[in-house]
Amino acid sequence: MDFKHITVAGAGVLGSQIAYQTAYKGFQVLVYDINDEATQQAKERILKLTKRYQEDLGASEEEVNAAFDHISFSSNLSTAVSNADLVIEAIPEVVQIKNDFYKELGKVAPEKTIFATNSSTLLPSMFAEATGRPEKFLALHFANEIWINNTAEIMKHPGTDMNVFQQVIEFAEAIEMVALPLHKEQPGYILNSLLVPLLEAAQMLLVNEVADPETIDKTWMVATGSPKGPFAILDVVGIKTAYNIAQGKAEATGSEQYAKLAKHLKKEYIDKGKLGVETGEGFFKY
Ligand code: NAD
Repeated sequence: MDFKHITVAGAGVLGSQIAYQTAYKGFQVLVYDINDEATQQAKERILKLTKRYQEDLGASEEEVNAAFDHISFSSNLSTAVSNADLVIEAIPEVVQIKNDFYKELGKVAPEKTIFATNSSTLLPSMFAEATGRPEKFLALHFANEIWINNTAEIMKHPGTDMNVFQQVIEFAEAIEMVALPLHKEQPGYILNSLLVPLLEAAQMLLVNEVADPETIDKTWMVATGSPKGPFAILDVVGIKTAYNIAQGKAEATGSEQYAKLAKHLKKEYIDKGKLGVETGEGFFKY
């Protein structure tokens, strides 16, 4: 892997973190966003991160400033990618927006440039054709607060070149992620393929009045040695997100079980302001 210049497209919640972590590990980073107002906001978001690096990682003032100095900003896509070895896309999770972006990117990026999507729910094969270079395209998926939750799921689509896959794995390691390769496309990657069924099963036990959150979490923790049970994890994710998922599945499938779960989450938690760790109480108190 001989990447030097990395472009991050879309510097919202995740893009700003990816840009800063990459710069912190010594790469030259170019941040691209839709207009000057958005790049200004990106700058402010990244500056806020410098405090978290000092608090959470014990980074020095010089280190966080040096990382910031490795980043430049542009709202012109051609300029932003003119020298990029790798473009990491973190723009909104909307098929049409991503599709239009990849069509344009494919036209203006140099031939050498590899493209990676940070999409959480959309598969790379959906955009492979739009990129005009399917063999140099794949998913590189980070978790929120990447400097602490440092997983990088690297996922091929059927047309990704193995050498490209390998280079992106090495890049993920170079920015101090734990690189987790997926050789086939999988909705939800590895983490959510494991986590979503666990969290759903726990919530069904609750809504069917089999056991309370404390007992369910205790069972999981004592029996598997895990430091957290499913309800403690749901409190971190946020109960609004759990509600949206249950409600969405109820509407999509007509399932009474999901409708019952959504109703329960709304009545017992959301309407009472118990949204999880962020409000100091969810299934548990914090
Ligand atoms: P966000 O809304 O915080 O940021 C999106 C950014 O993209 C904004 O800065 C916006 O100005 C910019 N943008 C909009 N249209 C654009 C375009 N056409 N070209 C370039 N930039 C554009 O979103 P986010 O939460 O950072 O999510 C971005 C991507 O990362 C999504 O695909 C999402 O699935 C994925 N992701 C998010 C999380 C998370 O916890 N938020 C975690 C992992 C992956």
